[in-house]
Amino acid sequence: MGPPGVGKGTQAAQIQALLGVPHVSTGNILRGAMQQNGSPLGDKVRSFVESGKLVPDALMGDLIAERLGRQDAEEGFILDGFPRTLEQIDILEGVLSRLGLELDRVLMLNVPEAEIVRRLSGRRTCPKCSSVFHIDSRPPAVAGVCDVCGAGLVQRPDDTEQVIRERMKVYTNQTLPVAEAYRSRGLLIEIDGLGEVDAVRARLTSGLGRV
Ligand SMILES: [Zn+2]
Repeated sequence: MGPPGVGKGTQAAQIQALLGVPHVSTGNILRGAMQQNGSPLGDKVRSFVESGKLVPDALMGDLIAERLGRQDAEEGFILDGFPRTLEQIDILEGVLSRLGLELDRVLMLNVPEAEIVRRLSGRRTCPKCSSVFHIDSRPPAVAGVCDVCGAGLVQRPDDTEQVIRERMKVYTNQTLPVAEAYRSRGLLIEIDGLGEVDAVRARLTSGLGRV
């Protein structure tokens, strides 16, 4: 768990390699389902996504159940992006009990909101080749120009401060209660998400009990 821009995806990819268990993110599941032409689940997902609607929790639950039931998740998995609301906790509980599984830990990466805004609002994206830069931490050689293909860089609408603050509000209102629910079950471990990727990964692995 963690707010947008905290580095969940980056860290999950590293821990996936370290532990040899798959990184299961809701984004990947949805993209994967939409690529399966002719599958009933895939068709359902496509109809929601293509009409710009949110995929309902119950359908997301079915997709997660299908993914966690695959062979590569037998030894475990890292779940990223779900549950984000209290209602989704119940959906996940249902999925896990169907599969005879339990969560071992809930790791939450914390970073102050000002740092989230700095990280995301400094992002610049190439509209042509999709390369991503950052005005402080990964500046292009020439300001505003893509190093890779020379196109002009843009700030995506999602990366503007106003949109980021709005997403932080949603996170605070909907997702922090999820953390509290897991805290009361004794599963939550909070990790400081500031600093270099390697340092954060070391804190995460020690939180997992594998130093
Ligand atoms: Zn480019």
